[in-house]
Amino acid sequence: MKLIFATQNQHKADEIQKALPDSIQIMTLKDINCHDDIPETENTLEGNASLKSKYVVEHFNVNCFADDTGLEIEALNGEPGVLSARYAGASKDANDNMNLVLEKLKGSQNRRAQFRTVISLMLEGKEYQFEGIVKGTIREVKSGAEGFGYDPIFQPDGFDITFAEMSMEEKNKISHRGRAVQKLIDFLNKYES
Ligand code: IMP
Repeated sequence: MKLIFATQNQHKADEIQKALPDSIQIMTLKDINCHDDIPETENTLEGNASLKSKYVVEHFNVNCFADDTGLEIEALNGEPGVLSARYAGASKDANDNMNLVLEKLKGSQNRRAQFRTVISLMLEGKEYQFEGIVKGTIREVKSGAEGFGYDPIFQPDGFDITFAEMSMEEKNKISHRGRAVQKLIDFLNKYES
């Protein structure tokens, strides 16, 4: 079975492929010649993941899955959430986004937050969703140079380092995306057998 991952990131696709039997072939948008600016206009992670996977099914008539991730901060009523990529503006600058979070949390005792990933899988005309969450706290200052996005200010529970101070392997084992992807992989492995 061919399954399109609605991403341009071959590395992400390779990671998932490694955990699946040969009978499931993961391909990216590039492989189906999709260079469209797929809309992400919903106001929830569930809605956006769904919009993306359904767009690909509708326009390319293939089985597909898409993901959407957000950082949800308790004291900010779940912000930046679905706005995570462009919290501080359309330039999608990670440093500006982190600075805005730190500014808004200045003086706040409650630093609780979570990363949440939602995957929408469209398989033979039916939708299945998978969620991965990692809980933690927002640091007062940035720390570490690995990873991307909000990693330098996010410290996962049970660790005294930020995501940006972890190796990629270490982060993937406990991350929101890693957990959501594992649920997808478990589902696909059962579906195929
Ligand atoms: P996407 O849905 O994977 O494109 O993620 C949306 C935004 O959430 C990204 O642009 C980042 O700002 C943030 N984000 C997603 N995953 C991570 C992560 O693992 N670490 C830090 N920030 C992340």
